[in-house]
Amino acid sequence: MERTLAIIKPDAVRRRLTGRILARIEEAGFQIRAMRLVQLTRTEAEGFYAVHRGKPFFPGLTEFMSSGPAVVLVLEAPGAIGRWRELMGATDPSKAAEGTLRREYGTSIGENATHGSDAPETAAFEIGYFFPGVELARAGGVG
Ligand code: ATP
Ligand code: MG
Repeated sequence: MERTLAIIKPDAVRRRLTGRILARIEEAGFQIRAMRLVQLTRTEAEGFYAVHRGKPFFPGLTEFMSSGPAVVLVLEAPGAIGRWRELMGATDPSKAAEGTLRREYGTSIGENATHGSDAPETAAFEIGYFFPGVELARAGGVG
């Protein structure tokens, strides 16, 4: 079993796509292990995306990620990190494959509806950023 950190980004929450995206997550066979609605401050968004600090899109990215509520989730499945990235599709919605979430719900490379961890180390950091260990351990104990 593997866990990944998923985010339904502020653009998708604003457009009331949360329920549809959650349905896609469950239909794809992921177990939801934790879930919160968060309104990130600019500083919290900068901390989350710290690996991108210094890149030209960093200011726009962190402004967008702190522009409204987002849904953060821990998803569990065999190969969850790769499988969630596959379901999301390419970063740029116009390049994402047919049937992927970003193709369907993203509107630009900046406003691309969802986030997913890209490796086991980043998943561990990102899950810890939003969910204390004790909360996750409890979630793991049910179903
Ligand atoms: P995410 O980390 O959000 O799951 P990703 O792993 O597909 O997306 P990254 O390279 O980690 O892509 O970039 C993080 C986010 O920064 C992207 O989701 C996108 O919203 C934004 N981003 C990346 N590249 C650009 C760009 N060239 N112009 C504008 N925004 C960008
Ligand atoms: Mg990334």
